[in-house]
Parts: sequence; structure tokens; C-alpha cells
Amino acid sequence: MIVYTLHCSKGHNFEEWFDSISDYENKARAGEIACPDCGDGKVAKSVMAPHVNSGAKSPARFPEPPCGGPGCMDGVCPVAEGG
Ligand SMILES: [Zn+2]
Repeated sequence: MIVYTLHCSKGHNFEEWFDSISDYENKARAGEIACPDCGDGKVAKSVMAPHVNSGAKSPARFPEPPCGGPGCMDGVCPVAEGG
């Protein structure tokens, strides 16, 4: 058995179980799959977004230095303060 997340042309998402991939393809081609919410027969497989861990671009917690110059750190900027 295989479960697919499907969506109809009206944007309803629902899950449907099939015996196999070809079972889904046969039923989809024959129009035997209908949206349980609205009965729409135009359904398509939703693309399941894989859980990618993009830890490389995690945002920093501390505030950005205003100028990035020397002595500008921890949110204290001597240039911005007119020093
Ligand atoms: Zn629907």
C-alpha cells in the first residue's frame, strides 16, 4: 500500500491509499479519484516537500552591527553614535 497526498482543482488537500503506483495512475487516468470535500474529479498528486535541514543559513540571533566597522559589535556602533 502507498499513500499519496492529492489535491483537487479547488485546492483541497486529502490523502488516498493505493495498492501501488500503477494503481494510482490507473484510477487517476480513469477519473475514479474524487475530492472528498467537493467531489472534484480533477485531482493531482501534491509534491511532498522533503524535510531538508538547511542549517547552513540559520539566521543569527544577535542584532546586525550597524556599520560593521572596527569596534562595531554587540549592537554598539561608535560610528553610528557620532563618536
Ligand atoms: Zn475539492
